[in-house]
Amino acid sequence: MKRLLPFFIAGALAVSACGSEGDDTATESSVATTAAAVTTTAAAAATTAPVATTTGGTGAVDLTRLAVGDDQFASTATVGKIFTCQSEFNGGGAQAQGPWFNGDGTWDSTAKIAVQGEVQWDAASVKFTLGGDSRLVTANALPDHDTGTFPIAADDPAAAYDRNPNSISEQTISTDLPAVPALAGGASCIRGEVGIATNGVPIYDGFDAGGRDAVAWEVQDACHGHPQQSGQYHYHDVSPCLDDEGEGHSLLAGYAYDGFGIYGLRGEGGVALTNADLDECHGHTHTIDWDGAEVEMYHYHATAEFPYTVSCFRGTSTQGPSAGG
Ligand SMILES: [Zn+2]
Ligand SMILES: [Zn+2]
Repeated sequence: MKRLLPFFIAGALAVSACGSEGDDTATESSVATTAAAVTTTAAAAATTAPVATTTGGTGAVDLTRLAVGDDQFASTATVGKIFTCQSEFNGGGAQAQGPWFNGDGTWDSTAKIAVQGEVQWDAASVKFTLGGDSRLVTANALPDHDTGTFPIAADDPAAAYDRNPNSISEQTISTDLPAVPALAGGASCIRGEVGIATNGVPIYDGFDAGGRDAVAWEVQDACHGHPQQSGQYHYHDVSPCLDDEGEGHSLLAGYAYDGFGIYGLRGEGGVALTNADLDECHGHTHTIDWDGAEVEMYHYHATAEFPYTVSCFRGTSTQGPSAGG
């Protein structure tokens, strides 16, 4: 599969697949997040994305009939779409639609299967170090929870839809985020890896390597993670295995690569958020607990519907060379 985007971005960007079939052209690793900073602002024109003032949530999402987000990319910040830096998407991902697709452009997240297995990762390591203006993130991308068995075993029912051949391996993540991020003049595009969870697992955007809805198509494990070609375990939405106890606003689930927080599904009052409650980059502004202080600050949220997490950056990204998928 090869998909050309309806807009042209100068300078072809390498694309990496994390999905089942792999892709010979996809060799770019997403490991070094500090190496080539500020790649996300160069490729596409910034647009102004006003901050949403809505802080509550409508919670009105039917989990059995979620719109499949295939090809929902945009060349400017747009609610419900991913403002992507990629000029094209190349293959990879699941090879067949699972029976959780309803056949009418929607899918049933309550019916989706997960990759089997209970693999422990005792070497998991993550550290967030606050110092001056920066938050230094060091991690090896191994999760603090069990994962499924990867490569996906031939006798795993998931193999009928997604033959992910990749193995989970230790990575080297070291990136310096702004401790108190500021809004940039406009939104900037994203490409693959958008942030890191509080447990050190990278968070990718909602696309697979083919520009399809990764959460709908790909079969991840019970914690919503799977490895891409260089072995990096990652999520495409906010993992249900991250601690999000309580009934009010969700807890911090991770940091986007512009330094802003990524929170779970619940907005103020504990109501599940939808795209309609959030701005073009999938965030909003209200008072949150930030490193122990109450501050009014922009932050991203998870939703049950595509694009699931960050869909563009509102701050200045430190994102390095990144993989799609
Ligand atoms: Zn919030
Ligand atoms: Zn993936």
